[in-house]
Amino acid sequence: MKADKVIEQSERYYLPVFGRYPIVLDHGKGCKVYDADGEEYIDFLAGIAVNCLGYGHPVLSRAIAEQAAKLMHCSNLYYTEIQAKAVKIIAEVSGMDRVFLANSGAEANEGAMKLARRLGVSKDPAKFKIISADHSFHGRTFDTLAATGHDYYRVGYGPLPPGHVFVPYDDIEALEAAMDENVCGVLLEPVQGEGGVHVPAPDYFKKVRALCDKYDALLLMDEIQTGVGRIGSWFAYMQTGTEPDVLTFAKGIGGGFPMGGFAVKEKFAHVFQPGDHGSTFGGNALACAAACAALTAVKAENLVERAAEQGAYFKKRLQETAAKFPEKVKEVRGKGLLLGLELYKPGKAIVESCLKDHVIVNCTAGNVIRLVPPLIVSKEEIDAVCAALERALAVF
Ligand SMILES: *Cc1c(COP(=O)(O)O)cnc(C)c1O
Repeated sequence: MKADKVIEQSERYYLPVFGRYPIVLDHGKGCKVYDADGEEYIDFLAGIAVNCLGYGHPVLSRAIAEQAAKLMHCSNLYYTEIQAKAVKIIAEVSGMDRVFLANSGAEANEGAMKLARRLGVSKDPAKFKIISADHSFHGRTFDTLAATGHDYYRVGYGPLPPGHVFVPYDDIEALEAAMDENVCGVLLEPVQGEGGVHVPAPDYFKKVRALCDKYDALLLMDEIQTGVGRIGSWFAYMQTGTEPDVLTFAKGIGGGFPMGGFAVKEKFAHVFQPGDHGSTFGGNALACAAACAALTAVKAENLVERAAEQGAYFKKRLQETAAKFPEKVKEVRGKGLLLGLELYKPGKAIVESCLKDHVIVNCTAGNVIRLVPPLIVSKEEIDAVCAALERALAVF
């Protein structure tokens, strides 16, 4: 199919929910993607922080192909060896004890909030409040929208599930003021991704933890974007000096294969009894094969350490770039390979200039260029993207 035809047919049949760029991607290798004419793009969006191994990683592709031929899906009413392996490796790398598998980030957060409410309500029918942060993003289902701190996503759907309260992010006094005995959970991203790459103060989560303990509320960390090595540790909470009760993951966990889920500490292993929660596809054999392969490869190739190293280099290069345009760039933020460049005006033109230059970046929160390359990224690719950003900023 010609590119024009692909675009026309997609626009004809897909619901118009995405503002798409007029390129048709065909295949990828490493940090590069190619359109049908073989034009090459350096991809620093990586499927929105999903493709941690880049494109076409042989270990991942082979594992998926082999599992597809063997057993793709069977019900969770039976055991599979590949699922046993997946939950073990997820528990190990996350430092948590028990895992539930679903298919997306929103489902992961839904399940985590259900667990917090089940436990809270079992103690007191009024203990169902969940606190989350302004400018957070937790998903697009009704309850994850209810927990998402931005009207852009929330407005226009009638009443959302009640019991959600918002506080400013990285503001411990505001959280303290909002806490009471009726709070069953506090849901926070360790670094806000969609909200514009906001890193909280180093002691914020320790204080959040203390407040959760004081009011007998669960600390739920949404690591859907920060997890799987992205910020230079397996999970971001490992750099906070404290631990969550429930951790949610998705995006990078399957290296590009759809999977989400949550993991809990042993203390909360029996909040759900058989029949209380479930999923038809969650923990599907094919998804588990992808997760096992992706996590094994991240481990074998030391990509967590690499994310920290390359991230530090990238941040330094971005700061040099930003220094050349002090009237255009407000700040460089982020950690590891979750970096943001805040601009003084909307960043759409930068994204478009870069795309013309065959570099894929993304703009979030209106004016923050978000950079989330695959963890395998090289210094040469980082330099090439910084050069493209400089060219884009020069005419911005
Ligand atoms: C992407 C994201 C989600 C939602 O994940 P989906 O798979 O799109 O449902 C939730 N929380 C955070 C922090 C995310 O980055």
